[in-house]
Amino acid sequence: MQIPDGFLQQLRDRADIEQLVSQHVQLRRSGRALMGLCPFHNERTPSFAVYPDTNSFFCFGCGAAGDAISFLMRTERLDYVEAVKLLADRLGLQLPEEHYDDSLSKRRQRILAANREAARFYHAQLGEPQGAAGLEYWRKRGLSGKTIRRFGLGFAPNGFGVLLEHMRGQGFVPEELLEANLARKGEKNGRSYLADNFWNRVIVPILDLRGNVIAFGGRVLDDSKPKYINTADTLAYKKGRDIFALQLAKNTGKEQLILCEGYMDVIALHQAGFENAVACLGTALTKEQAQLLARYAKEVVLCYDADEAGQAATRKALAVLRQTTLRLRVLQLSGGKDPDEIIRAFGAERFRSLLEGAANNLEYRLLAARGSLDLESADGKAIYLKEAVKILAAEAGPLERDIYASRLAEELDVRKDAILAQLRQTAKRDARRDERRYYANLMRPLTEAAQKLDPARAQHMAAAKAEERLLGLLQQNPDFYPKIREMVLAEDFVTPFNRNLAETLFGRLEEGREIDPTMLSGCMGADELGETLRMRHAAEGLQNSLQECLDCAQTLLGEKRLAGRPRVSAGMADEDYLALFAGLRK
Ligand SMILES: [Zn+2]
Repeated sequence: MQIPDGFLQQLRDRADIEQLVSQHVQLRRSGRALMGLCPFHNERTPSFAVYPDTNSFFCFGCGAAGDAISFLMRTERLDYVEAVKLLADRLGLQLPEEHYDDSLSKRRQRILAANREAARFYHAQLGEPQGAAGLEYWRKRGLSGKTIRRFGLGFAPNGFGVLLEHMRGQGFVPEELLEANLARKGEKNGRSYLADNFWNRVIVPILDLRGNVIAFGGRVLDDSKPKYINTADTLAYKKGRDIFALQLAKNTGKEQLILCEGYMDVIALHQAGFENAVACLGTALTKEQAQLLARYAKEVVLCYDADEAGQAATRKALAVLRQTTLRLRVLQLSGGKDPDEIIRAFGAERFRSLLEGAANNLEYRLLAARGSLDLESADGKAIYLKEAVKILAAEAGPLERDIYASRLAEELDVRKDAILAQLRQTAKRDARRDERRYYANLMRPLTEAAQKLDPARAQHMAAAKAEERLLGLLQQNPDFYPKIREMVLAEDFVTPFNRNLAETLFGRLEEGREIDPTMLSGCMGADELGETLRMRHAAEGLQNSLQECLDCAQTLLGEKRLAGRPRVSAGMADEDYLALFAGLRK
């Protein structure tokens, strides 16, 4: 990963991190930073800071930190070299070619190329005799030629290595096809062989936001099992990360997304004119997917199957989505099991009216709380009221509280002002609890991240803290380096992570190279960079004096049990400290 410093400096000086982040996060100025809701963890109170002066970002909630390049790596899911290339492209800079190792990126590009070719092949099968069963299947589902083309739907013929043969002819080697999960290894009579991963299935290609084919879904033509199989995790695809059809839905310009259970629903909805329909793929909705949705929409309408499994999935998805700022509604499907069936049986208009009448999150949760309670009985009433107050206190704004308190009062035949009083009390208690949690959470993930990167930290807490302060101070004041070098060497660091970091920073400064976030992003992983920048930010609260560096060095050397640890009085001049430590090191 050797991208020349000179080129990174150009990138750093031209990249506008404020503008880059603004595409994902609404930022507000606050002092020398800009604050917004973190795109990398769920939160309701902004703790994500962007610093235009150092072209860096830092989240006080989850510890995510980095520069423009690492921001692109995280949001666009690129590796380092790809992110550098993308940023350079946007800035109109040409990356010097020979200096970097991009083998991982090349392997991923190869997988994407193989997927693209495979998608073309599967789609073309629909026009061939061996693909007739596939075409018939799609037609039976009521799909038009236009929809089939729009989604690039296809068919994997019934055979052992039909795709393999085609791909070999296109110059792909077996290792690449295995790595793309287009082929799989089998063994028979002690001999291993290679076979297509998908056969005798209709195929749905899965695209990422930039239009790359990252994976495939395959469905059997009948009711045999397994009904669906998907591409396993590869360098280009990770389960639970992407949203099906988001690359299409995001272009509708609508603030609302319809979230379905599977891609078949999405395809049917798009054909019926609901081009803002999307689905998560083969898993329960993950946090990562919820954040992705929140980046492209303001409201999500959940549209899962009407059966028991679908309702359970709805409850789970709501719990994940409630952690975001999204407005939520739930579509209660009646007269059909899933959206596809409703549209086929009753038409698009019926679905549209269902969509308009979709219960908001509050209504849905109240209905669910009410469940099968007997509201005629005093017990049933009391339980429902208690649950309803809890829900409204946690989720409803003042106006909603008033409206639902009136409804509840009428429904349960109790006094509205009593409900409102109860609501105020519960809300106050919740707010106190949330505040405590918020501050506890603010600090915890940071120490957790540090602990994970440096397991030795816990045993050497005093040394680790001194090391972190020293490395933070050094990042804030690289000009301290010649003096720090007199006091302490990288090998004096006690914990391995900090020792490595000291080696990196000292080594660069020794060579006269810079150590700001962009320059460091090339020589460490995203988590390491985050931890490094955490130290840098922590040092902002210090006076940034040489004396502080000296104190840290003393702690460190003390930990190394160097004999004759001197007592240093606070009034000593920097030079005296230096003399003291210079002597101590010998
Ligand atoms: Zn965060």
